[in-house]
Amino acid sequence: NKKIVLRNHVTGFPKESDMELVVATGAAPSRVPEGTDGAVLVKNLYLSCDPYMRGRMSSHDGSYVDAFVVGEPITGYGVGKVVDSSHPGFKAGDLVWGMTGWEEYSLIKDPSRALFAIRHPDLPLSYYTGLLGMAGFTAYVGFHEICAPREGERVYVSAASGAVGQLVGQFAKLIGCYVVGSAGSDDKVRLLREKFGFDDAFNYKKESDLSAALKRCFPEGIDIYFENVGGAMLDAVLLNMRVRGRVAACGMISQYNLEHPDPVHNLMAIVTKRLRIEGFIVSDHYARYREYEEKAARYVKEGKIAYVEDVAEGLENAPAALIGLFSGRNVGKQVVVVSRE
Ligand code: NDP
Repeated sequence: NKKIVLRNHVTGFPKESDMELVVATGAAPSRVPEGTDGAVLVKNLYLSCDPYMRGRMSSHDGSYVDAFVVGEPITGYGVGKVVDSSHPGFKAGDLVWGMTGWEEYSLIKDPSRALFAIRHPDLPLSYYTGLLGMAGFTAYVGFHEICAPREGERVYVSAASGAVGQLVGQFAKLIGCYVVGSAGSDDKVRLLREKFGFDDAFNYKKESDLSAALKRCFPEGIDIYFENVGGAMLDAVLLNMRVRGRVAACGMISQYNLEHPDPVHNLMAIVTKRLRIEGFIVSDHYARYREYEEKAARYVKEGKIAYVEDVAEGLENAPAALIGLFSGRNVGKQVVVVSRE
């Protein structure tokens, strides 16, 4: 059983050497151990790399989930196949997604809380690390509930080519919004325009004045900002919001590796423009996940949603894939293949 364990807690930018591949000898586990009632043994197929995992690599976790334990496998979302079960709700052969370990096999002790059964195994299973799983549901809840969008509104999405951003932009197009995205390379900008159907897009790394770039794309201002990056981008957006605009604060990836967060100067715009800024955590909304799963599966089958994944092969490449999120190495949803069956 190969695993990726955390070697040390992290400050600043994470490195591959903060994690380590550990190979245990002996046969692959095939049974839930005696005396572990209510558990399932899962063979992990696909793992998800997610920005929030950086918070868990710190020791002083001010985050909403616990810090990873040094010497223990990294945990995160993934897709797997049940090998053995002592839980009445799961049986060998079931396909599941949810919280698992960065290892070939994981014993999940509380599967009814940690795992969802996969209801559309006819779609690519890796989609349950993103579009049909946590990231997709984040885009859906964040856009439709937190932003309360109306047809024709002007929507701006940052980190727009990533797992969440590409879907927010497409959900907004589906209800007739005007959508602009930003991303960190010209290739990603092309993807936004040509593959995901954004009305406009720009490479934020090439703009010397972010506020001017936003003014160019939104001469009449922004109704809805889907916030993924924070920092200087948030500051520029505040200057360009329309009166009664809404901001869904989904994440602020530009801040995750900083020991001292960037200051935000333009907060007074919240008052003068009567803005509503609301943060949200997707796991608070899982009671409604099934409704989303059905809708998203239908969108994929009807060809209404395009989806791009960045697939790293092999558990040993998971640390580099995770770290790559913070330099924008990933193009689309970052997935790691542990095993295809
Ligand atoms: P992505 O697939 O978008 O990957 C991260 C991307 O962020 C990178 O590819 C990079 O793209 C961009 N990025 C990295 N560093 C910076 C930086 N310093 N400044 C600007 N952009 C940067 O990740 P996800 O779609 O999974 O996550 C997007 C956001 O949503 C994150 O903030 C995440 O924390 C948040 N999130 C929140 C959830 C919630 O429940 N609230 C749930 C899931 C995600 P580029 O090349 O464009 O710079």
